[in-house]
Amino acid sequence: MKISYKDSEMKKMERRDALKMMGLGSAALLAGGTTSVSAKTKLSTFASRKEADIVIVGGGTAGITVTARVRRSAPNARITLIAPNDVHLYQSGQVYVAAGLYREFDNKRQTKELVPDNVTLLQDKVTHFSPETNKVHTGKHGEIPYDYLIVALGCEYDYSWVEGLDVSDIGKKGIASVYLNDVNEGLASGAIISRMWLKTIRRHTQRSEQKVLFADPDGPVKGEGASLDMLFLANDMLKGNGMYKKGKDLRSKAALTLSRPGKDLFPSPEIDRALKKELQKAENITIAYEHRLVRIDKERRIAFYSHEGQTVEKTYDFLHVTPAVKPPDVLKGSGLTVEKGEYEGWLEVDEKTLQNPRYPNVFGIGDIVGLSSGKSGGAIREQAIVIQDNIAAILEGKAVPMTYNGYSVHPIKTRYGRVMLAEYTPQGLEPTFPLDPAKPRWIWWEMDLHLMRTAYFGLMMRGML
Ligand SMILES: Cc1cc2nc3c(=O)[nH]c(=O)nc-3n(C[C@H](O)[C@H](O)[C@H](O)COP(=O)(O)OP(=O)(O)OC[C@H]3O[C@@H](n4cnc5c(N)ncnc54)[C@H](O)[C@@H]3O)c2cc1C
Repeated sequence: MKISYKDSEMKKMERRDALKMMGLGSAALLAGGTTSVSAKTKLSTFASRKEADIVIVGGGTAGITVTARVRRSAPNARITLIAPNDVHLYQSGQVYVAAGLYREFDNKRQTKELVPDNVTLLQDKVTHFSPETNKVHTGKHGEIPYDYLIVALGCEYDYSWVEGLDVSDIGKKGIASVYLNDVNEGLASGAIISRMWLKTIRRHTQRSEQKVLFADPDGPVKGEGASLDMLFLANDMLKGNGMYKKGKDLRSKAALTLSRPGKDLFPSPEIDRALKKELQKAENITIAYEHRLVRIDKERRIAFYSHEGQTVEKTYDFLHVTPAVKPPDVLKGSGLTVEKGEYEGWLEVDEKTLQNPRYPNVFGIGDIVGLSSGKSGGAIREQAIVIQDNIAAILEGKAVPMTYNGYSVHPIKTRYGRVMLAEYTPQGLEPTFPLDPAKPRWIWWEMDLHLMRTAYFGLMMRGML
C-alpha cells in the first residue's frame, strides 16, 4: 500500500478540521486500521459452526482479545479460559499514571466483566502442558483436555540483569521503573512510584543539580518505547510542563542520560532516525550508546556500565530501570518452546500463522511468542485477528487464510501533548493513517490519552478493534 504523507496539509489544517479527521481516523483504527492483515479481515467471512474444545490460557490483553474473537468465529465451540487474575490491567496506561494524567484505578477492570458470554472462566493457573495428549494441567481444576489450545501467558520481568538491584528496591533510594506490575494480582505499583519519582526529581532540581539515569537492557522488552516516554516526559516536566504547567524551566540543572546496549533507540530505523533528531533539541539529554548497565551500588548511588570492554562509572541521584523479560517458567519442558538461538525458551510459533510447528493445534499470541516483532498490545490486536480466522478455517478443514505481518506499535510521548505514533513491521513503517508516523503530533497524543483506553476496554477486549 502506498501512503502519501500530508504534512504540509496538516500544518495548514485548522484545529477543528484536525479534530474531525481524528474522529474519522480513530473510526478507521477502531474498524481495524488499514494494515494488510486487518484489511483482509474486514472482507473475511471466516466462521465455523463446527463443535470443538478450545482452551485459552492467560487473562491479559492477548487472552481476553483472542477469546472474544474466537467466540465469534467458532460459535459452537466449547471455549474455556484459564486465568488466575481477578483484575485485568490496561498496562499502556501506566505511563499516563506516572505522568499524572490517569488514576491507577481507571486502568483496571474485573476480568470476569471482560469475558464474553458462553465462555467458561476457570480462575486457575496452568502448571504443566502435555501437548502430546492435548491436555493442560491446572492447580485447582486438574487436567483440561482440548482440541485447540491458545497460549497467552505473557512474559515475566527480570530485574536481575542489573547486579545489586532487587525488585524491592524500586520506589526506594531514587530508583523507579514505570513497567513494574503484577498481572496475576492486578497491581501496577511501578506507575505510582514513577509519578512520585518524577515529582521528587523536580523538587530536588529546584534545590541543586541532579543526575538522572535511564537504563535499558539487552534483548526484548515489553512495551518497547516506554522508557523513552519516561525520558521525554521527565525532561518536559523539568521544563515546566505537565504536572508543573507554567513552572520554571529547570532543564539546565538536570542531566538526563539514557543507556542503550546497542547503537539504536528503537527497532524501526525510520523511527530511530526521527527520535535521534528529536533528541538533538534537548541539550541536557545524553544517549550513552553501547553502554550496558551491569551493576549498581545503591547506597552510594553509583552505576557501573560495560562499554567497549571497559567498566565506566557514573554517579546518579535518580535511576529508572527497564526490566529484561523472560518466558514464564511453566513453559519449561513443555515441548512447545524454541530450542536454540535468540528466542530459546519462548513459545515457538510460525511467524505467519502463529501455530506451533510441532503441534499445529497449539497457537501462541502476545508477549510469550518467540518472534522478533515487538511485545505490544498493537501486535496482539493483529495476531488475534489471524488466530480468529485461522482456527475457523481449520475447523472447516480449509487452508489457513491469514498471516501475521509482524506489526507492532508504540505511541512515543515526545513531550506532554505530542506523540510519535510508531507503527512498524520488520519490512518498514506501517501507518494506519496517511500521515508520517515519524513526526510527533498533538492529534496522536489526544487520541492515545483520551480514546485508546476506552477503545481498549470497550472494543479491543470485545474483539472489535
Ligand atoms: C509500561 C507499559 C507501557 C506499555 N505501553 C504500550 C502501548 O502504549 N501500546 C501497546 O500496544 N502496548 C504497550 N505495552 C505492552 C502491552 O501492555 C503488552 O504487550 C500486553 O499487555 C501483553 O499482553 P499479554 O496478554 O501477552 O500478557 P499479559 O498482559 O502479561 O498477560 C498474561 C496473562 O497470563 C496470566 N498467567 C500467567 N501465568 C499463568 C499461568 N501459569 N496459567 C494461567 N494464566 C497465567 C496472567 O495472570 C495474565 O492474565 C506497554 C506495557 C507496559 C508495561
